[in-house]
Amino acid sequence: MGFNVAIDGPAGAGKSTIAKLVAGEMNFIYVDTGAMYRAIALYLIRKGVGIEETDRFADECQGAEVSIQYVDGTQQVILNGENVSGWIRTEEVGNMASASSVDPAVRAKLLDLQRNLAAENDVVMDGRDIGTNILPNADVKVYLTASVEERAMRRFKELMGKGMDLSLEQIEKDIEERDYRDMHREIAPLKQAEDAVYIDSSDMSIDEVKAAIIKLIESKR
Ligand code: C5P
Repeated sequence: MGFNVAIDGPAGAGKSTIAKLVAGEMNFIYVDTGAMYRAIALYLIRKGVGIEETDRFADECQGAEVSIQYVDGTQQVILNGENVSGWIRTEEVGNMASASSVDPAVRAKLLDLQRNLAAENDVVMDGRDIGTNILPNADVKVYLTASVEERAMRRFKELMGKGMDLSLEQIEKDIEERDYRDMHREIAPLKQAEDAVYIDSSDMSIDEVKAAIIKLIESKR
């Protein structure tokens, strides 16, 4: 069993930025589970499945095989043999991932992949249900959040930097909808694990959050 760090929290809380930095510093691998849900979402979109066609998710997702690889330490998501890492970061795919991840068949497709990675490696794994469901015995659990306004602003800046043109209001609305769906779904909803440390990063720098998590890891090693 590897040393397992689980970081859960809502969209835009900075999980991936922080998880990557912590993993780099500790020499662990970073596992981005959201990217796996995004790969399945991309598959569904390419199959012509609409975001409202929830009754098609379970059947259609059966043709999607997701795995990951590391290139220069960076996680790449492979969908049926194709590296789709460059296609999964759009709002369209994110919204579809949020809708389709509600389906138990979609979640079941990714469970073993995530657990096996954590069994075989020292990992920092981020997502929504890592501490509560995927790795209930993780050595360190963090629930990382920030206010909706702060998260929307961070995502707005990130998307602007990539040349994507979306209004702040639209992003805030998407985040609220995604939070609601992630927190209210029947299977593996987003919630803080009882033994997770709660960190609100609204007024913290990236370095401060990273240092807080590394301190937690060092106290458990
Ligand atoms: O974190 P990211 O925005 O890439 O995740 C996309 C979507 O995938 C989330 O909105 C969430 O619905 C879903 N997800 C999940 N469980 C995880 C990781 C992501 O349901 N462990």
